[in-house]
This record gives sequence, C-alpha cells and structure tokens, in this order.
Amino acid sequence: MLNLVLFGPPGAGKGTQSQKLIDKYQLVHISTGDLFRAHIKNETTLGKKVSQLIADGQLVPDSITIDMLEEEVGKNPNAKGFIFDGFPRTVAQAEALDTYLESKGSKITGVIALDVTEEELTNRIAERKKISNRADDDAEKLKKRIDEYFQKTIHVLPYYETQDKLSKVNGIGEIDVIFNDLCAVVDKY
Ligand code: ADP
Repeated sequence: MLNLVLFGPPGAGKGTQSQKLIDKYQLVHISTGDLFRAHIKNETTLGKKVSQLIADGQLVPDSITIDMLEEEVGKNPNAKGFIFDGFPRTVAQAEALDTYLESKGSKITGVIALDVTEEELTNRIAERKKISNRADDDAEKLKKRIDEYFQKTIHVLPYYETQDKLSKVNGIGEIDVIFNDLCAVVDKY
C-alpha cells in the first residue's frame, strides 16, 4: 500500500495537490477538513458538535477527529492506499494513525511537507475567501488557524523525521511544477 501524508499549513495547496496525486496513483483521498465540512452541511450530530470550533479556526478535539478518520479509512477496505490531507494535525493524531494502520497490517509510507511562507499563505487565503464561502477564511480566523498550526501541528514534523519518513517540497510556484516535485518523491518510495 502507498499511504501518504500531505502536510502543510492552511493554504499550502494540500487539497489541490491531493487531487492530482489521487488521479495519478489511484489513491483514496481523506481530507478531515472536507469530512467535517460535509458533516456541518448535512447537519449531523458530529457536524453540530464541531461547527463553532471550525468557524473559529480552532482544532477539533483529537478523539472526535481520530474516530471520524478511522471510520472513513474503514469504509475503503480495498484501497490501494490513502492520501491523508489535514491529518494528522497533532502528535496524538499521528500516534493514533500509526497504531490504527499497524492493526491493519499497514503503515505510513511517507510524509511530504509543502513548504510555503506565511506571507504567501495569507495572500492565497485572501484570494480563496472570494470564492470559498468558508467562514474560517476571514482574516482573524485565518490568523487563529495559522497559530494553531505553529503551536500544535508543526510538532508532527519531528515525529515523522525521527522515523525517517519526512520529505520537503517547495510549495510556491506553478501547480504543475510542484506536482512534478511531489511525484519525484513518491516515485522513490
Ligand atoms: P486548511 O485549509 O486550514 O488546511 P482544512 O480544510 O484542512 O483547513 O480544515 C479546516 C478546519 O477543520 C481546521 O481549521 C480545523 O478546525 C478542522 N480540522 C481539520 N482537520 C483536523 C484535524 N486533523 N484535527 C483537528 N481539527 C481539524
């Protein structure tokens, strides 16, 4: 199995690049942000529980996020592999993912971090806000999301680095150039 984590701050381009990677490598895309937004849209119990946190740019508690992720992975028993996008966002989530995959006789193949400066992120999300309709894309909420990233999520990088699974790719420039750089990493796995 090819199990990838696409890692990066809000606005790094994880969604865009995930879409291209799943087409090329025939993987199942699991975006916890997309899953939460679907729950909110469908007004599920989970959606109601998390909507305020997400609108405020805060992370959803680990237990809720991990349960949702495991359920989603479990729905795809015949997958050739997965791209995890927006997960893990905390070290506890990374550990839970390792334990879960191990219980299925699988593991994370590699983690690719998209490197983008904070200035570029702020500009991109300001552009996205014009079309995204996401409450958490406004400037103050975005600041909270970027803070959450630098306070909590960034610690996931050393977790994978010590496992020798981390690669970094420049996330600024043409979408197709970034994609080629990502593929060059994946093709070496
Ligand atoms: P971004 O564009 O900021 O990368 P996502 O679409 O991945 O955003 O996620 C949107 C929001 O959903 C996050 O700000 C957070 O509130 C919540 N969320 C998504 N994934 C996770 C996760 N793994 N753990 C906790 N909260 C999450």
